[in-house]
Amino acid sequence: MPLRELFDRNVEWAEGKTRDDPHFFRRMAEQQSPRYLWIGCSDSRVTANDVLGLEPGSVFVQRNIANIVHTSDMNILSVLEYGIDTLGIEHIIVCGHYGCGGVERALGSDRSALVDHWLQPIVMLYHKHRAIFDAIKDPRARAARMCEINVQMQVRRVAATPSVENAWARGQTLHVHGWVYGMHDGLLRDVGPTLSGTADRDALSSIDDCVLKGASPLSAVQIQALEAFCEHAAD
Ligand SMILES: [Zn+2]
Repeated sequence: MPLRELFDRNVEWAEGKTRDDPHFFRRMAEQQSPRYLWIGCSDSRVTANDVLGLEPGSVFVQRNIANIVHTSDMNILSVLEYGIDTLGIEHIIVCGHYGCGGVERALGSDRSALVDHWLQPIVMLYHKHRAIFDAIKDPRARAARMCEINVQMQVRRVAATPSVENAWARGQTLHVHGWVYGMHDGLLRDVGPTLSGTADRDALSSIDDCVLKGASPLSAVQIQALEAFCEHAAD
């Protein structure tokens, strides 16, 4: 597509928005008051607002390869601080996705690119528990399991940042969630944990224990419901 066409599409989009809601852009220009902070993957197929069915202005977003929270990453720390202290967001959602190329790469052996430094927390967890992950014979299922575990690890990391701790210490309402998105069905799964204070965080089992426990965090009821939905959707 020629780049010029993107500008044409932009004009069409702005016109459509204004037609549906004449005050939309005036409202947008005045302020943003999102309730949600989304920490997701850079993957072009997982766009926060679309997945959540929300308009611009509803979600404060930080995306990077494989939705990793590096506690020395100025970008994510600044987003957390601004989101919590200034915007007063109430929910931080760490959202991974099945079929994540970053997670799949971390389970492979190629360490030749800069991104391999970025993926290091997943790589290290994989190596530490290699026997458990490699026992999952289907590579897609193995990567899916790591997607879930990775989200659970990053929730723990978010909850360990001073910005989150300080919010909880002053009594601010703030919940941290771990979700995974299925690109094959468009549905979100809550794989946990959900943390609403330091007591929740400190009572959590370690990420190593989560790996050792092995089972998918989704309840049987949830899995059944999702399968039924997918079958129905395929009809
Ligand atoms: Zn991804």
